[in-house]
Amino acid sequence: MSMRGGAAPRAVFVPPTRWALWRQGPRVITYYLVSETLAVVLTLRPSPIEVDRRTVAILGVLLALGVLQSETGRRVERIRRRVASTPHINMTSVWTFAGVLLLPPPLLAVLVTGLYLHLAMRSWYRLQRVPASRTVSNAAIILLSCYAAQGVLRLAGLDDVRSAMTHGWAGTFAVAAAGVTFFVVNALLVLPARREIGRTPEALFGTWADNGLEVATLCLGALNALAVATLPGLVVLVLPPLLLLHRTVLVRQLEVAAHRDDKTGLYNTSGWHALAERTLAGAARQRGTFGLLMLDLDHFKQVNDTHGHLAGDAVLRAVAEAIIAAVRGRGDAVGRFGGEEFVVLLPGIAHQDIAPVAERIRRAISALTVPVGQLKVTGLSVSIGIAAYPTAGTVLQRLLDAADTALYHAKATGRNKVVHVADLV
Ligand code: GH3
Ligand code: MG
Ligand code: MG
Repeated sequence: MSMRGGAAPRAVFVPPTRWALWRQGPRVITYYLVSETLAVVLTLRPSPIEVDRRTVAILGVLLALGVLQSETGRRVERIRRRVASTPHINMTSVWTFAGVLLLPPPLLAVLVTGLYLHLAMRSWYRLQRVPASRTVSNAAIILLSCYAAQGVLRLAGLDDVRSAMTHGWAGTFAVAAAGVTFFVVNALLVLPARREIGRTPEALFGTWADNGLEVATLCLGALNALAVATLPGLVVLVLPPLLLLHRTVLVRQLEVAAHRDDKTGLYNTSGWHALAERTLAGAARQRGTFGLLMLDLDHFKQVNDTHGHLAGDAVLRAVAEAIIAAVRGRGDAVGRFGGEEFVVLLPGIAHQDIAPVAERIRRAISALTVPVGQLKVTGLSVSIGIAAYPTAGTVLQRLLDAADTALYHAKATGRNKVVHVADLV
């Protein structure tokens, strides 16, 4: 399969008046410009490490290895970029954090700029979703995280990893603290630019896998710096584990993507089934209960017919968010069974609590106003069928059939209502 399909090549030179940057809101523009200015100012501050032949040589080695790694992992990185929907962690900390422990600010700035320029041109170039302004801002944020980490080293009275090596445990802790600072500052600095503010921790801070990758790359970065300061030739030892790590993260991302519905980010049919089977097995073992809701939007075809398919898609996304917000509980799994049909799994819920949850979802969807371009879609409604384990059935398919029967009944008796299969005679 060709990786080049779809996006047309992007112009390399875009006149400043047409930069994607200006299409952002004032908050994001301010944030971009402030962080970039700060990064430039801090780059010019005085430093105890000198720019000399040794540090320039170290820069050259880190930059060369960074470029080599990103060239070797280019295909993996492109696929990751395509399948990922959450914040995206790249592998550059392996080199940038090594730079924190070895390089003066101006050379660190050259390292970060070089790595990001290379990534932008070689790995992200054809992905239209990544405007240049975002890449520049990402690089500035990484640089600020680097400087914060260097600040911690300075506070501990250390210049670089070589002076840390002469300070025993104090040096060890200082390097660890620098790593933690890099991680925390980076996680906090990306927040203001996130549109998902106020949403789930995952949308804001990334998944456990994302954060695990960031921690792993920082660890390798520290080991890199130690190698450079002792036996520089050994620094190439980091490449094989790094490439393998990259690939492992991709596999995990593909796994997640295979269980997700592209349009809404909810579980798709197979993802939801897998989870539901596990919930059912757990409930069977522990003699527990769970509820199952089956939802179908009312007269959804009219939304498409009146406003077009794109408006229909926007409505589906808004409905998905409304359902998530209405359940939210731990383990509550919301899935999209294709079209405008959704399913919700409510583990551990008491029988009498299922209908109120369904009712909450129904009301939330009725209250939705979905902006689509200039117009707003309102007046949506949904019919919901309920089945409970184990009363309505002890195998998944039986429960789904029961909920579907209840849903059918809701549709047949006027729509925009919740029907419990137990209430049907
Ligand atoms: P009812 O109240 O009986 O459920 O009426 P309805 O119009 O919602 O039901 P029907 O099953 O006849 O139509 C479902 C429509 O959903 C048909 C199809 O055009 C639309 N649809 C299915 N999948 C998608 C999608 O991914 N995006 C959009 N925009 N529309 C979709
Ligand atoms: Mg429908
Ligand atoms: Mg339908």
